[in-house]
Amino acid sequence: MNTHTNGAAGGLGVRARRLRDFGRALRLSRTELARADRMDAESVRRLQQGRLEILVRHAAAHSPFYRDHYRGIDGGNVALAALPPVTKDALMDDFDGWTTDRSLKLADLERHIDGLSGDDLHLGRYRVMATSGSTGGRGVFVYSEAEWTMNLANFARLNERLVGVHPRLLPHRLRVASVGTTSPIHISTRNGLSVSVGINRVLRLDARRSVDELAAALDAFRPDLVVGYPSVLAMLADEHEAGRLRFRPAKVVTVSEVRTPEMTETIRRAWGVEPFSWYGITEGGVLAGDCEHHRGMHVFEDLFIVENMDADGRPVPDGVVGHKLLLTNLFNRTQPLIRYELSDMVVLDSRPCPCGRTCRRVRSIEGRSDDILRLPARAGGQVAVHPITLRSPFARLAELRQYKVLHDEGRIHVLIVARDRSKSEATERRVRDSLAKALLDVGAQPPPILVETVAVIPRDQGHGAKFKLIESRPRVTPLATGSARRP
Ligand SMILES: [Zn+2]
Repeated sequence: MNTHTNGAAGGLGVRARRLRDFGRALRLSRTELARADRMDAESVRRLQQGRLEILVRHAAAHSPFYRDHYRGIDGGNVALAALPPVTKDALMDDFDGWTTDRSLKLADLERHIDGLSGDDLHLGRYRVMATSGSTGGRGVFVYSEAEWTMNLANFARLNERLVGVHPRLLPHRLRVASVGTTSPIHISTRNGLSVSVGINRVLRLDARRSVDELAAALDAFRPDLVVGYPSVLAMLADEHEAGRLRFRPAKVVTVSEVRTPEMTETIRRAWGVEPFSWYGITEGGVLAGDCEHHRGMHVFEDLFIVENMDADGRPVPDGVVGHKLLLTNLFNRTQPLIRYELSDMVVLDSRPCPCGRTCRRVRSIEGRSDDILRLPARAGGQVAVHPITLRSPFARLAELRQYKVLHDEGRIHVLIVARDRSKSEATERRVRDSLAKALLDVGAQPPPILVETVAVIPRDQGHGAKFKLIESRPRVTPLATGSARRP
């Protein structure tokens, strides 16, 4: 059991230390990050290149993994495109060699995560987070205090200058509700704990709770800002429209999952607000967020470099959906992430935004390349079916409250929550027919499609409790050891 020994360092209590860090983050957001927000594109490139050179030299000097990875590369002239990319699995396989602090050992971090409660620090100075590995393997990420302060500063920038909410003193403290995960190994929970310093009031709700319970909690708390998974916020907006939830938030932000145009429309119609969208990652906090014009999420290019790539690792032009992103986190020195692969399929846009920010925008997140289905093609061979092809038939089915498409063992299993259960048989048939047609239209031979009406669609088993609209579980080949997948 972790006690609060971590907060005693330097004689400063947990709350005092958190308040101090919050103050530092606010100052940083209003000075250094505010200057970056006003830079022209050329100045941002120069800033990025300077930070990249420092990062690459630091990694090559202090991380045995990167020393090896960059062997033979000219250290005097750092060109991003010449650096070999890295994957989560490769970094996790050599975790102790990846970090630049030799006192960080994966085994110790796993023990720390196991006993984690609240905002505990490892070795008195590191915050440790993990990804559940719902796609790809599990990842463990650490932030030093300086790195965490930068993440919080970026978070403050988002809140104050993009969404337009400010910390307020008593008696009208800012109320923020978050509907997602409450696990402390998740970065959003730690962000919430870090900013809950007696200035803001933060209510954290588990997205796995029933819609009725969530609605009652929001009605009682009456937040100024609601941040949450779009799948659950759209359900809550639906509840408001049906008169079962009185509360109407002034600002709504969606995070972590794909937000479909139907979800956006439900939120807009029910609550009369245009929802904001944040692109959050455990590997760096919030990578991008939209401004008041909602023309895509501005990438915070003073802190991150993103490169949009196709399946063969070639750059993808603006306006085209990529297969993966290469992320470089410019502020994390402890655990360098340089051209790190993210399986998100996004569209980038470099055109100017009316807000005047020059940074590029992520216009849409189409899903993850792990969720591309490979189905037999009618013409022979295989065809890759994009998640958007699978979502498109559902956009026209207003009788659905929620759905999930699961590709498993050579068949497609669709779970649906119908608005009117008495008509579910007809709805199931419509879902099956329209999905089969969408697959035929892209040249696939539709596999057996099983449609099932349920009361509730379960969320991800991992600690993130995310809702995946499309999930592909490729057929698992039994291992030679005999530990085959159970039927
Ligand atoms: Zn803008």
